[in-house]
Amino acid sequence: MKHVISDKFYQLTNKLIPGGVNSPFRSFHEVGGKAIFMKSGLGAIIKDVDDNEYIDYVGAWGPLILGHRPQKIMNALKDITDKVMVTGAPHELEYELAFKLNKIMPSLEKIRFVNSGTESCMSAIRLARGYTKRDYVMMFEGGYHGHLDITLVSENHQSSTGIPDNVKINTVMAKYNDIDSVELLFKKHANKIACVIIEPVAGSMSVIEANHEFLHKLSKICIEQKTILIFDEVLTGFRVALGGSQSLSGVKPDLTCLGKILGGGMPIGAYGGKAQIMDYLMPLGLVYQAGTFSGNPLSMACGKAVLNALSEDGVYEYLEDMTHIFASNLTQFCQSKNYPIHIQRVGSMFSIVFSAKPVLNYADSLMIDTIKFAQFFHYLLDRGIYLPPSAVDAACISKAHKLEHIEKTLEVCYKALSNIYNLSTS
Ligand code: PMP
Repeated sequence: MKHVISDKFYQLTNKLIPGGVNSPFRSFHEVGGKAIFMKSGLGAIIKDVDDNEYIDYVGAWGPLILGHRPQKIMNALKDITDKVMVTGAPHELEYELAFKLNKIMPSLEKIRFVNSGTESCMSAIRLARGYTKRDYVMMFEGGYHGHLDITLVSENHQSSTGIPDNVKINTVMAKYNDIDSVELLFKKHANKIACVIIEPVAGSMSVIEANHEFLHKLSKICIEQKTILIFDEVLTGFRVALGGSQSLSGVKPDLTCLGKILGGGMPIGAYGGKAQIMDYLMPLGLVYQAGTFSGNPLSMACGKAVLNALSEDGVYEYLEDMTHIFASNLTQFCQSKNYPIHIQRVGSMFSIVFSAKPVLNYADSLMIDTIKFAQFFHYLLDRGIYLPPSAVDAACISKAHKLEHIEKTLEVCYKALSNIYNLSTS
């Protein structure tokens, strides 16, 4: 596969944009090589600037649950752009999307729309602090909540320099799926913890479903401690089920953060929850949050179209069937060959984990063989299969993926794995 034009863009872009990318996820720094410049997409297929085609399992890192350019979203986009782009004033579509969202996720009694998942997590945390008048935030090692200071403080995983120590000291880190670690932190910081933020299905240390019993216990402790429970469903919202992972576990968070799929392909974020908490936001309360493009008509129109499409009969059954066929066949193949690989998935989000045992938390994720994953990634890429360039980030199947795409992908995966393991044992 040739990448002549892509390589040229890569060189040029690197001169003006750090690392050639506007988000580090997109670079191939974890797997080696150069990021590929894409130019178009339709259904399950994405095409690069050299006209190479790939079956796309990145799905724009989550949003494209209906595939690229689904007709219903394109129609909604055309209808709204025939009338308006952005006004900076309220628009009826904000009400319509909020109404639909409240029906789909009843824990969102009131909602604010913002522009990204990061913004939704940042705003929900500020609201929790303003409401409880406490400073501390509990999160889970290996969790990802966007690029806000307060959750990029781990000494071990995704973190950043440039975050002052006096910000870092307000974040305490528990272990995913480990209620003892949560209880210990509540004892140590009694009456100081404003909120606990958690991905109920983790998507950045491979796909890990939080144990439902663990989530129920977490919710109980939060109620006892008068701490706000925030579910970060930016990735899982409308992905693992229409009602998000909260509809699967039955645990009702105080606040929920959303993004990705909710915009139907347009930039969006949203957070919402109990009305008595949400009413602390300005102009009713004293917690400030604002945005020029928040609730803009284009994102609202596409959001409404995607939620309507996802509410149709059979969508989630289809996604489940396709992902099950993929995961069960690949699992069987790996077991029959004794390859140390696990397919971890919830609904249509999955990760192919190169590890001898399943990954249940951040420490387990460190055991993943990232070198073998990189070999696997490039073998697939060269044969027209586009996976996230990361051994731990979630891949996604969309409604546009047909059985023929899955079968072709399986065939290439079998060959890739045989190649990798036979070479490494010879
Ligand atoms: N939370 C989670 C769980 C995410 O997966 C992401 C993005 N990968 C974010 C927050 C941040 O969202 P955004 O990139 O839209 O800022």
